[in-house]
Amino acid sequence: MEHLRIDREKTAARIAQDIETLSGPAHTRDAVAIRRYAYTPEYAATIAYFTRELEAIGFTVEQDPVGTLVARNVPKGAPAFGIGSHSDSNRNGGKWDGTLGVVMALEICRLNQELGLGLPLVLISFLEEEGSGFGQMLLGSRIVAGRTTEQAMKETIRELDSGRSFWETAQAAGYQPERWRESKEILDGLIGWIEPHIEQARVLQDTENRIGIVNAIAGYVHADIHVHGRDDHAGATPMNFRLDPTTVLAECILELERLAIEEGHATVGTVGEIEVHPSLINAIARSVRFSLDIRGPRDASYIGVFERISAFAHAAAAKRGMTVEVVERQRNPATPMDARIVAALEAAAAATGAPVLTMHSGAAHDTMCVADTVPTAMVFVPCKDGLSHTPLEDAKPEDAALSVEAILNAIRALV
Ligand SMILES: [Zn+2]
Repeated sequence: MEHLRIDREKTAARIAQDIETLSGPAHTRDAVAIRRYAYTPEYAATIAYFTRELEAIGFTVEQDPVGTLVARNVPKGAPAFGIGSHSDSNRNGGKWDGTLGVVMALEICRLNQELGLGLPLVLISFLEEEGSGFGQMLLGSRIVAGRTTEQAMKETIRELDSGRSFWETAQAAGYQPERWRESKEILDGLIGWIEPHIEQARVLQDTENRIGIVNAIAGYVHADIHVHGRDDHAGATPMNFRLDPTTVLAECILELERLAIEEGHATVGTVGEIEVHPSLINAIARSVRFSLDIRGPRDASYIGVFERISAFAHAAAAKRGMTVEVVERQRNPATPMDARIVAALEAAAAATGAPVLTMHSGAAHDTMCVADTVPTAMVFVPCKDGLSHTPLEDAKPEDAALSVEAILNAIRALV
């Protein structure tokens, strides 16, 4: 099939206009940052904007029982290709994270109509990806995928501002959480799914690539290591009389770096939280807690690093007469993207003439939940200095237009 070149300037201008509109005062609770999340007026205004734009080009627009937006240009359940992302934001968010993906999907729907391509399309904007309202990432897509429970929605998942349960908050906003099992039907008929998103790292920018094709989303282990020492006086206790847990912390941080580099396969390991008890300048700590975030696109690699750092922590503590506990918080497997969709995207992206990089996503995305039942891939748009989840977030509509052209052509080849 011959590559279709779109009017990139026109598409870039429309994307810029959509993004500008959706960062106006009606769409954010904050004067500087973008702050919008499920069941707030700002979020409802955003969903209403997409609804109007999609209805204007002949789409049927609805929401699932909890508020995920679904728009179709074919009957419900008929074979179609899915595109979209999320349009909620981090509490201190920028204009681009999530919203750009839905705006690009909208632009693909517009081009499909304008150019008379006749592609069967379903646009989805998932509810509450960032967890800003209820502290749970990927909530809307996890409900669709059945990765959460009714009990959690009624009890543990609570609105951060009011403490009210997700269930009650959704009902008060006019939704029907009791019908949540029907949410999965929004994926019925999908023969494929592509989520466009800003990269949220600086790889594309620093390698001077303008389109990123994602071939896997990293899996991860989150855990805590607790080191138990003995609180003694920092002045009166000679060095060889101490059980100082911060020494084990220090050894573990450096060993985690070494292990991740040695393992390769894009494995990354981070100690992001450190708690020293009692945290006083003149006291040797009684105990230390530090977190582990270990990720990568290859399960065996990051899980192997987690197992080795756990064993190392036990040994490092034992050598100094102390003990550790390793407590796992959460584990999520890596999500490989569909080889056929990735290949179609790579071919279409190359045909745009822009420099393209095939890469993995280190961050989690709704696409992980879609991938349970539908062949999926993602496309990354470069963002300035990798900044994300900050009002400084920035990206170029011209780059987004290139990715729109690539996705449109890939879908033409796949349906
Ligand atoms: Zn996002």
